[in-house]
Amino acid sequence: MFVLRSVLVLALLPVVARAGIRGLHWSDVSITHADRTAPVVAITFDDGLNGPTTLAAAETLERYNAPGTFFVVARTITEQPDLAKRLRDHGHLLANHSYDHPRAKKTDLRYTQASRAQATFFAAYGECPTFFRPPWGVQTPWVNGAVKRDHMRTVLWDVEVADWDEKNPERLAANVLAKVRPGSIILLHDGEDGHIGANRSTTVAALPAILEGLKARGLTPVRLDTLLGMAGYQKDCG
Ligand SMILES: [Zn+2]
Repeated sequence: MFVLRSVLVLALLPVVARAGIRGLHWSDVSITHADRTAPVVAITFDDGLNGPTTLAAAETLERYNAPGTFFVVARTITEQPDLAKRLRDHGHLLANHSYDHPRAKKTDLRYTQASRAQATFFAAYGECPTFFRPPWGVQTPWVNGAVKRDHMRTVLWDVEVADWDEKNPERLAANVLAKVRPGSIILLHDGEDGHIGANRSTTVAALPAILEGLKARGLTPVRLDTLLGMAGYQKDCG
């Protein structure tokens, strides 16, 4: 019995070791916040571009001199080129949130969403984002491999308040301000899975209170590239 158990343990060792390495790989590749000592934060939006909603969010940020970072579903920049250009021209950063927002499957060994999005950015601007955020935050080894191949960094968040479910702008703002710290990356949504016309009015309505609250706490909103001290765009687009 002892021998049998030993054999079993030996047989399982490679599996356990692989799982351990994969565990490291899964957890070590994403950025969730910056250095906690500098009084700066990044406001990031997922799931646009979303027409007037994205525009309203950008205009609010601009009133407060607070450039934002938009993790866009790349398909939407070909559908709304003027809006995409306007965001860039007004100093906001565009980042990669896949091509059309499918949920990554563990069985999808060819994760082509990241590079397809990069090619879309490159066709439009001659450069592509450095920062990638997987739809629903779902990372698989194949997603992580694709991001690495395209010389990107996966950026998640440390402040998330389920803004997509919230109906009360004051409460949404209060929840963000309760969680935010120096170096925070705030996750909000200006769209829903890349569907143009999605209602994100509560998030947009909460923005002034969020921006006022950050100011009151001495926290300055900056773009993600500024927060992380990394270039936001690259020329190596796959
Ligand atoms: Zn998303």
